[in-house]
Order: sequence, then structure tokens, then C-alpha cells
Amino acid sequence: MQLLFADQLGPHFDLGGEILLPEVISQFAKRTYHRQKAHLILYALRSRAKDPRVTSVKLGSYRELLPESITEVIHPTSRPMLALAESLGASILPPRGFASSFEDWNEYSEGKKTTRLEDFYRLQRVRHNLLMDGETPESGRWNFDQENRLPPPKGGTGVVAPWAPVEDELDAEVRALLDELETEGVRFIGSDGARKFAATRQEALDALEHFIEHRLDLFGPYEDAVDEREWSMSHSLLSVPMNLGLLDPVEVAQAAEQAYRDGRARLESVEGFIRQVVGWRDYVWHLYWHFGPDYTGSNALAANAEVPAGLLSLDPDAFESRCLSESARAVGENGWAHHIQRLMILGNIALQRGWNPLQMNEWFTDAFVDGTPWVMPANVIGMSLYADGGQMSTKPYASGGAYINRMTNHCGSCKFDPKKRLGEDACPITAGYWNFLDRNKERLSGNFRMRNAYAGLARLGDISEIRSQESARTQL
Ligand SMILES: Cc1cc2nc3c(=O)[nH]c(=O)nc-3n(C[C@H](O)[C@H](O)[C@H](O)COP(=O)(O)OP(=O)(O)OC[C@H]3O[C@@H](n4cnc5c(N)ncnc54)[C@H](O)[C@@H]3O)c2cc1C
Ligand code: SF4
Repeated sequence: MQLLFADQLGPHFDLGGEILLPEVISQFAKRTYHRQKAHLILYALRSRAKDPRVTSVKLGSYRELLPESITEVIHPTSRPMLALAESLGASILPPRGFASSFEDWNEYSEGKKTTRLEDFYRLQRVRHNLLMDGETPESGRWNFDQENRLPPPKGGTGVVAPWAPVEDELDAEVRALLDELETEGVRFIGSDGARKFAATRQEALDALEHFIEHRLDLFGPYEDAVDEREWSMSHSLLSVPMNLGLLDPVEVAQAAEQAYRDGRARLESVEGFIRQVVGWRDYVWHLYWHFGPDYTGSNALAANAEVPAGLLSLDPDAFESRCLSESARAVGENGWAHHIQRLMILGNIALQRGWNPLQMNEWFTDAFVDGTPWVMPANVIGMSLYADGGQMSTKPYASGGAYINRMTNHCGSCKFDPKKRLGEDACPITAGYWNFLDRNKERLSGNFRMRNAYAGLARLGDISEIRSQESARTQL
């Protein structure tokens, strides 16, 4: 019998025989999950269990699994689950649900001191013949990042609203179960609300088709923009069904390419999207294994401050900074925020304030509907917090309020002024940026890519005032 995990639910994980599908409710008591994340996991599991070949078992713990009944398992996505699979003595088949194998990665990374997304991504394009014109990239360019950086337009983006599921009796059943758990004392964060993400194979296909038809064309231009009027901008919201194993990234990328070939979506958008799906997603998956089990404990910048309780509980009223408050609100309402909110607002502020990387990694994993153990370390420990000392990124993604002012429409309704670094209305992100550079001068000023930033710091005549102001700041 094949053992199936909760992130292996689509047809590409099905070996065709009898399936054992565990449901382990106790996991919700061990960590503080977003309520909508718990809902999605349970809904997806129970839908999959309707297949007559599936035997669903409710367990108190994965350790209750009986080894004699399990013959095969597809390589799990995390070390603890891999150890479990190994302990069962079942045969472990190569991973699925990604667009490259361990062998592909080994061939690419062997002998390299550092890996680069761009090199890996180009190999992925060639390997899957995506947006290729023979041996060269379509239109002669691999990368359209320069075109894909528009700020939110004043009059609204005009993007079509995302696909949304129609809730059914299984949603009601799951909601009642989660209410019961809450009554018994299990704590969730975030609000309950209408389900927004695909959690069955059919829903995943519908969501993919809707995105390709109605939203992909504008994906590129507004990829980095945050607009308070459009919670999802032109993003696909497909990380949830992909991370549940309901969609294969290659089918997603091929559908996007077809839209370009048919003239339904512009090249800049399709290239940008394919880069995310078969580039970044596979890249961080391989880095999870590549960096090893101790990576999440990295803390190269000695960042030991506690993550504020207001963020842990997703309380927007805990913050006066509009960008932080609105990001906490978005995650509270949807269990989701887009890449720039994660990296350039939440990650950037955590980096500046020295919030503990491991605590941030755990918070991101539990608070986001698409959070998984494999996706977070490279994104949080590496890319956002530079806690790995530069293994993932060549320099920290630190920026001041000017970036947020350009790429979002938060600052216009904020009590702070993004241009000010001192005084009552000094922007905590602008002042925080200079304070971060100053605090980490010894560690970072030798980094060639930080040369301009440190030249800017050297020109400031008021850094000691900024230092005192920011060390006394109690309210963000
Ligand atoms: C601090 C931080 C935390 C993140 N946490 C998660 C997470 O919990 N789960 C997750 O899947 N992604 C995560 N990402 C990556 C990215 O932000 C999300 O994949 C994306 O916002 C999901 O929304 P979407 O499906 O609409 O994505 P789109 O913008 O439509 O992108 C398409 C797809 O590309 C993939 N992708 C793009 N960038 C990345 C990346 N850096 N890592 C992995 N996949 C990527 C995702 O599968 C995504 O669905 C994180 C990034 C950062 C900086
Ligand atoms: S002014 Fe500063 S704190 Fe306010 S929204 Fe802009 S960047 Fe954020």
C-alpha cells in the first residue's frame, strides 16, 4: 500500500494502487497555525479521501503508522517526514511535484562554491523547452525583470478578481471541527473566512485556467507592486495547490507558455511567471536539502530580538506604520501576502529590527497558507534575514521607506513620512535602515555590494541621533 502525505494529493503522486492517507489532528495543537491554513489542509485531505482506493486513518501521531501495511512512499518534502518514511522500511521513490530531480541539482551544483538562481533557471528553461527558440531564449532574452517593476497605478490596476472556490458541505464540516478544537483549547491565529484557495485537483485546474485566461497578462508589470485596493494584485494564488501537490509546476509553466504562444499574454509576464514556478520554487526546494539540517539555526547577524506579539498574533492595530499594519492585516485576513509584502515589508522590518530568524521562520511557516518546512529556510533565513551570512543572497535585502513609497500606496495614509529619518514623524523603516547599516557595520561594510550603502551612511551627519531614536523606539 502507498503511504500518501498531505502535500502529495494530486494525480502525479498516485502510483495507481491502494493508498493509505493519515489525518493527524494533533498537529494543530503542537503549533499555532493560521485558522485558514488548518482549514485548507483538512479540506484537501478529506476530499482526497473520497477516492475509493484511499483508506483514511485518523491518528494521534504519525508514529502510530503500522509499517507492515506500507510498501511504498514518494520521497517526502521534509527531513522529519523522510526519517519517518525510512523508519517504516517502505521503498522510497524519487520526489515528485518539482520541475527538477536531485540528480539535475547535483549535476548543476557540483563543484560550485556558490549557486545562482539565474544559472539554474536557464537550465530549467532548456530542460523543459520553455520559451525557447531552438537553443536560444524566445526573443533573445532570458530575463524581463527590468520591465516588471511598475508601481501601483493611480487609477487602479484593472486586474480581474482571482478565482475563488464555491464552498460546500465539506467546508462546513471542517469549520465545525475547527470550532470544536478551539472550544477544547487549540489556538489558531488569523480570521476564519470564506475559503479563497484551491484544495482539490478540479479546483486547482479551475484556478489555473482562470489565472491564465484573466490575470497572467498583467502578472509581470505589477509583480512587485502592493496596492491596498487589490489584495492579490495579479498573482496566481497557486502556491497553495502546488504545495499541496495538486498541480505539477511543469503543467503550470506549460499552460503559461501556451498563453504566450496563442497571443493571450505578453512575454514579460509569462517569462516572469515561469521564472517563479520552475526557477525560484525548485531552487529553494533544492536549497532546503543542500544547506543541511542546521541551516534554520543560522544567525550570522546575531539577531536576538523577540518577534513582537502583535505580529505573532496578526493584530494590525498593534502597529502605527501603515505598511506593517496592512501586511499583518493581509496575513490575518487571508493567510497570504504577496512576495514583496513578505520580503520587502515583513522580512525587511524583521531584518532591520534584528528579530530572531528561527522565530520568524516558524511564524512564516505557521501563519501562511502556503508555508511548508522546505520553502521557508531559503526564503526567510537566507533571502529575507541574511542570517546565513550570504550563502543564499550576495547582500541583505535591506531598504528604507523610499522603496515602500515607490512600490506601494501605503505611505500616503501613514502617520510617518518616508523621507524623514529623525523626529516625531520619522519613518521607522527609513530610520531603521540606517540604524541597521550602522549596527552591522563591522559585519557588512566589507561586502562589495554594500559599498554604496555604506558610502551613504558615511555621509550622514546625524547617525548618532538616529541610533538613540531607534533604540528608544517602542512602537513601530
Ligand atoms: C519571506 C518569504 C516567505 C515566503 N513563504 C512562502 C511560502 O510559505 N510558500 C511558498 O510557496 N512561497 C513562499 N514564498 C515565495 C513567494 O512569496 C510565494 O510563493 C508567493 O507569494 C505565493 O503566491 P502566488 O502563488 O500568488 O505566487 P505568484 O507570484 O503567482 O508566483 C507563482 C509561483 O511561483 C512560486 N514561487 C515564487 N517565488 C518563490 C520563492 N521565492 N520560493 C518558492 N516558490 C516561489 C510559487 O509556487 C508561486 O505560486 C516566500 C517568500 C518570502 C520572501
Ligand atoms: S511612511 Fe514608512 S512606516 Fe509609513 S507606510 Fe511608508 S514606509 Fe511604512
